[in-house]
Amino acid sequence: MRYCQVCILPDTRPGIEIDAEGVCTACHGHRDKEERIDWTARAAAFEQLVAETKARSAGGYDCIVPVSGGKDSWYQIIKAQEYGLKPLGVTWRTPARTEIGQRNLDHMVRKLGIDHIDFTIDPEVERKFMIAAYEDKGATGLPMHMALFAIPITLAVRLRIPLIVWGENPQLEYGGNEVERLADTLDADWLARHGCLQSTDADYWVGREGLTESDLVPYRFPRDPDFQPRSIFLGAFFKWDSFENTRIAASRGFAHDEGDLKTGSWAFADIDCHFISLHHFLKWYKFGITRSFDNLSVQIRRGDMSRAEAIRHLAETGMQVPEEDIRRFCAFARRPVEWFWEVAEGFRNRDIWVRENGAWKIPGFLIEGWRWQ
Ligand SMILES: [Zn+2]
Repeated sequence: MRYCQVCILPDTRPGIEIDAEGVCTACHGHRDKEERIDWTARAAAFEQLVAETKARSAGGYDCIVPVSGGKDSWYQIIKAQEYGLKPLGVTWRTPARTEIGQRNLDHMVRKLGIDHIDFTIDPEVERKFMIAAYEDKGATGLPMHMALFAIPITLAVRLRIPLIVWGENPQLEYGGNEVERLADTLDADWLARHGCLQSTDADYWVGREGLTESDLVPYRFPRDPDFQPRSIFLGAFFKWDSFENTRIAASRGFAHDEGDLKTGSWAFADIDCHFISLHHFLKWYKFGITRSFDNLSVQIRRGDMSRAEAIRHLAETGMQVPEEDIRRFCAFARRPVEWFWEVAEGFRNRDIWVRENGAWKIPGFLIEGWRWQ
């Protein structure tokens, strides 16, 4: 396990490669954003895209903006409106929406003045799918990802809405190769590689936990559509900055406070859903990182803190186990909490973890004196 010498990401994180100088692909992404990408030209390209979109939308909705109600959703809607697009907000409604998440979503619809679909999947189907995805792939977040990609894409095709405005380009923000970092399109190829779907589609899950073909309809992508919406990362056209997005969102009514912190080190992020912390927590078993590794690395690159300060922060915080969310998830799944831990154990990556004196450890871990549990 090698760590980037600029930020704190290890090469076990998907998309992260570390070059001969010890610098990771996410830090190269930051350099791309600061020095390489011509943002004026990108903004002009967006204006061109808006003009083409308007010509195609024929007076209907110009774009679908997939929204959760979080800071980035607000920013995406604000940006779309700023450029004269008429957006339709589309949400995959998590079965575990938080209070603050609901409030922010309601306020977003009202204060930004948008039409909105809060798309709810039968919770019993979600329950079965989450159990199957967790036991089979160790991925509680897989059904969420499949739904939140499939629903907006399907609606855009069916309602003939010519554009889908996604948020950041994750390969530019969190590590990816050069081609991926400079890409602006979320297409089928991107979904297959980066959609967190683990090479599965809806049909793969038919029969698991009694899921039927018809249960999985909302998770299915349109086949051979006769209408092709464009599907873009907003973060490929305007420099993405989570802190700046939060500031812009807050200036229009997005709310959060320190007590909302669920995972990682940012109280303004990942606050819409009680289950998102599990998705991030399982990266500890698979890649030896927590959400804080991502958050703090972004802050190092922004110049908010030094690498040493980030390491100190991690050492002081220690392991953040989302106990309450795990209990909530098990109650939802109608499984005992022991089940969660047994399944998680099965996905512990033996390439990075070793068992020593009764405890699992990561040799060469970033933080000396870490309290292994
Ligand atoms: Zn780095």
